[in-house]
Amino acid sequence: MKKIAILGSTGSIGRNTVDVIRNFPDHFSIEALTVNTRIDLLEKQVDEFHPKVVAVKDEKLATELKRRIGNKCEVLSGEEGLLSIAADYDYDIFVGAMVGFSGLAPTLEAIKRGKRIALANKETLVVAGELVTELAKKYNAELLPVDSEHSAIFQCLVGEDLSGVDKLILTASGGPFLHKTKTELAGVTVKEALNHPNWKMGNKITIDSASMMNKGLEVIEARWLFDLPCEKIEIVVHPQSIVHSMVRFVDGSMKAQMSMPDMKLPIQYALTYPERFASQFVSTHLPFIQTLTFFEPDFDKFECLKLAFDVLDAGGTSPCILSASNEVAVDKFLKGKIKFSAIPEIISKSLERFENHLKPDLETIIMCDKETRIFAEQLV
Ligand code: MG
Repeated sequence: MKKIAILGSTGSIGRNTVDVIRNFPDHFSIEALTVNTRIDLLEKQVDEFHPKVVAVKDEKLATELKRRIGNKCEVLSGEEGLLSIAADYDYDIFVGAMVGFSGLAPTLEAIKRGKRIALANKETLVVAGELVTELAKKYNAELLPVDSEHSAIFQCLVGEDLSGVDKLILTASGGPFLHKTKTELAGVTVKEALNHPNWKMGNKITIDSASMMNKGLEVIEARWLFDLPCEKIEIVVHPQSIVHSMVRFVDGSMKAQMSMPDMKLPIQYALTYPERFASQFVSTHLPFIQTLTFFEPDFDKFECLKLAFDVLDAGGTSPCILSASNEVAVDKFLKGKIKFSAIPEIISKSLERFENHLKPDLETIIMCDKETRIFAEQLV
């Protein structure tokens, strides 16, 4: 029986994780859950899974939850509550499903305890990839990817030696604007951007998919997760999202991992690895799909993708500047305050504004994140 802590249990990845765990009551138990604000759903999860402890980031809502659930389980609050769950409570697998920069600190706590980390929080590896992977090595923590692309690469690499790898090839659906021109792209609406053709995800990541920043962030993640230099990573556009990513080896052979797009598969694999459990959810029938197509990404149209490759080369704090300014810009776009084309503009200006610090420690990263956000806010 493996004990699970899910940080961000009411978001898209969190809910999918709960769905997976529900199917294997003999293998997994939920020990701890955290949310930012959605206490209604958390209350239901508490009733169903009886965790020992939960944390709500919003202090007022934490008090409200306490009032509602009485002594069914311990309720912590605030950033400290989330940190404390990662640092002080008992679990075997830490599912990092929170959105944004705030996922970093609790993940570091779990790493320091040498736990298995099922990592869905992109920012952790994007802004602090070097630090996170160094600490994971030092404390013998297992970093298992939950993102479909990285899970695919991870699955392709089982039994392989990294020295035999020629290229990691991340697939990108291209999002809803694959066939729009650069001029059309500039004026798309929030509603259009939120309409992803293949995946149902949270708002932030759906906008990132529309700008292809999501793929850029994934390339940075892959660089750290698989410890390969940037020239060994490339992107291919694959609109059907059936091939979740590939590895090309030095002998010219390629391995691809395929399935219908459903996040429950990579989540389940991160929980059960190295075993595979029978899935209640995913079955893939290729004759039904018929056609798989692949083509080169358009770096000129998707400026965010180009910016991500630039910072991948630069390293240091530049991925943090990219990620923080992107978070601010996406938030403003979702609130209708800026045009879609202003997202890469805000990121470019932020990258120009700040000096790049190489080999940053956590404090430098936190400072860089803060300063970038303030600057990006002012640009709007
Ligand atoms: Mg992905």
